[in-house]
Amino acid sequence: MLKWIDVIRFATTGNPDPDKKIIKTNEEWQKLLMPEAFRVTRLKGTERAHSSEMCSIFEPGKYACVCCGTLLFDANEKFESGTGWPSFTQPVTENAIAYHKDVSYGMVRIEALCNTCDAHLGHVFQDGPQPSGLRYCMNAVALKKVESNESKATFGGGCFWCTEAVFTLLKGVTKVQSGYSGGKIANPTYREVCSGMTGHAEVIEVSYNADEISYADLLRIHLSTHNPTTPNRQGADVGTQYRSVIFYRNETEKKTAEEVIAEMQSVYQEPIVTEIAPLEYFYKAEDYHQGYYNNNQQQGYCQAVINPKLKKFRQLFKSKLKDNQEQDLSTNG
Ligand SMILES: [Zn+2]
Repeated sequence: MLKWIDVIRFATTGNPDPDKKIIKTNEEWQKLLMPEAFRVTRLKGTERAHSSEMCSIFEPGKYACVCCGTLLFDANEKFESGTGWPSFTQPVTENAIAYHKDVSYGMVRIEALCNTCDAHLGHVFQDGPQPSGLRYCMNAVALKKVESNESKATFGGGCFWCTEAVFTLLKGVTKVQSGYSGGKIANPTYREVCSGMTGHAEVIEVSYNADEISYADLLRIHLSTHNPTTPNRQGADVGTQYRSVIFYRNETEKKTAEEVIAEMQSVYQEPIVTEIAPLEYFYKAEDYHQGYYNNNQQQGYCQAVINPKLKKFRQLFKSKLKDNQEQDLSTNG
């Protein structure tokens, strides 16, 4: 989760690289855009406050750059700021937006641009709601609403080789990445995390389609496929990096996490010790950790630890599995 200190750092020392870069001349953009969108995005204009209905729309979905279509914001992060411009607390990814110091009109402000195509979007202020405290004050004309129910969830339940292998099998899950969250240093290595000194947990970032699987169901499966009652431990793996944790992105997720934990407590005799914490950063783990189980099925740990877990998981959550995984179940017996 980006905070004001990150925005200032990006604006002073440089922005993170975008996934791709799109460069066109103003003449080319003018042909593609409506006049008002061209004036705002390419000539750094500002639309009149309260000029768009987008301020009062809060339906689920995503908001993309009107120029290049890159996804910038999720409707979950949109809030009523009362300013007359659509306002968000957080972009969809840390590299979606570029930040520049803007000293026009005798003020020092932070300009927000599409990091992919450099479209001017609006400004960012530090008076937004917690936990990010940010207010992305956007021109509605610089954005277009797109239907998308793709969301991300981040949690840890011990060794990420195991948790990644489990969640990859679920219907509605489009991508699972292994990484580190909840620690004190930036860009930690596996070695550093394993030392237990950085405070990071081994976590997975699950991309999912909320039409096909709900956040609550992901958490139910999470709490059923690891032991959430052993502090800083999963089986033989001991250390804070193996703690049971749910990192939430917004207040709705936090509330859902609390409810699901209360609900799942009936399944366990010992108290559930799963930590619920705001997501600050997800650092993707080294490449050799990604898809570890699928790439190393013959390895001892996979056979001894992950195979039995997956077998149990397949039986327990048969109806939630991707179609080809249900077939796997029948052929494997
Ligand atoms: Zn763009």
